[in-house]
Amino acid sequence: MEVKRKILLNPGPATTTDSVKMAQVVSDICPREQEFAELVEFITEELTVFVGDPKDYVTVLFGGSGTAVVESMISSAVTGPLLVINNGAYGKRMCQIAEIYNLNYVEYKHSPVKELDLDHLKKYIMDSKLKFSHLAMVHHETTTGMLNDLEGVGKICQALGIELIVDGVSSYAAVPIDMKKMNISFLASTSNKNIQGMPGCGFVIAKKNSLDRLKDSKARNLYLSLYDQHSFFQQKKQLRFTPPVQTFYALKQAIIETKREGVEARYLRYSKSWQTLVKGLAELGLELLLPENCQGKLITTIIEPANDNYSFEKMHDYLYDKDITIYPGKLFEQNTFRVANIGAIDFRDIEIFLKELKSYLVSIGHIR
Ligand SMILES: *Cc1c(COP(=O)(O)O)cnc(C)c1O
Repeated sequence: MEVKRKILLNPGPATTTDSVKMAQVVSDICPREQEFAELVEFITEELTVFVGDPKDYVTVLFGGSGTAVVESMISSAVTGPLLVINNGAYGKRMCQIAEIYNLNYVEYKHSPVKELDLDHLKKYIMDSKLKFSHLAMVHHETTTGMLNDLEGVGKICQALGIELIVDGVSSYAAVPIDMKKMNISFLASTSNKNIQGMPGCGFVIAKKNSLDRLKDSKARNLYLSLYDQHSFFQQKKQLRFTPPVQTFYALKQAIIETKREGVEARYLRYSKSWQTLVKGLAELGLELLLPENCQGKLITTIIEPANDNYSFEKMHDYLYDKDITIYPGKLFEQNTFRVANIGAIDFRDIEIFLKELKSYLVSIGHIR
C-alpha cells in the first residue's frame, strides 16, 4: 500500500516514515497479554535511555496527548510551593493546571522574546517569602521557538534544593537532554513530536527517588496519577487503562529509528533544515520574531509580510494544495506565522517549501 507523502511544517504531529506508519498494521491483540507487556517494557526502557540511566530513572506511559502528561506531572509531583516559569503559551498552560488543582503556586512571568535572566531568577527565588519545593518550566517554548536554558535553571534548582519539573514535549529526542546532569526530577513528552511516532501516547520520565516519595501523597485525580500508573505497571506489567495499542507499535518502530539515527545526529539534521529555512526566509525579505541566540532551531516564528494582499489563510491553502502544512502564530500583538522543521523531513523539503512560498509571495505581488 502506498501512502502519499506530505510535508508537515506544523509543530507536531510531525511527518513520519512509512515504516512507522506501517508498524501500526498488526493483528488485533488484547493489551493485557504477555506479548504486549514485552512491547511496553521495550518502550519504557528505551524512552528512558535517551535521557537517563534506567537504574535511576523510569518512564511512565499514558494514553493521552502532551497536555495530559504535563497535567499528570504537575498534579502528581508538586508537594509544596511551586514556581512556574511562564514565557509562552505552554508555560501559561502549566499555570492554568496549577490553578485548577488549587496548588500553592507563583507565576514567574517573562518576556517571550528575550532570553531568561538566570541571575534575576535565582535572586527572585531567594528573596521570595515562599520556600519553593518545585519549579516547573518548558524546555522548548513551541509558541515562539525559544529554547530555554534548562541546564542553567537546573543548576539553580540544585543549589537551592528545588525539584525541577520540565515540559520537554517539543524538545525531547531532538535537543540532547541529560536528566542527571541537568538535575531534572520529572520530564514529560509525547509520541508524536521529535520521536517521530503517531499521536496518542504521552509519557513522564521520572527520577525513581522522586517518584517513590509520592507513594504516600493522596492522588489528586484518578487517570493521571503518576505514582498509581507507575506502581500498577510495575506489579502487573499492564497499563491501568486501555492504551492506544497501535500507537505503541508505531512508537516501538519510531524508537528503533531514533536509536539508529541518534539524538545528536537528529538535532543536526533538524538544524540543517533550520539553517536552510532561515537563509531562504532572509532572501525573501521575511523577518524572524526571535534573535538567533535563543532559537531552538525546531520551530521558527516569522513576522507576516506587510502587504494588503497577504492573508495567512490563503497562503496556508496555497501551500496545503501542494501537500505542505504550515501553522498560524500564537500569543502576540505582532502578526506572525510558524514553520516547524521537525519530523521525518530534511533540508530538501524545506527547499521545496521555500520555492512554493516564493511563488505565493510573487502571486500577491509582494516580491518579484
Ligand atoms: C505540543 C506541546 C504540548 C502538548 O500539546 P498536546 O496538543 O496536548 O499534545 C505541550 N507542551 C509543549 C511545549 C508542546 O510543544
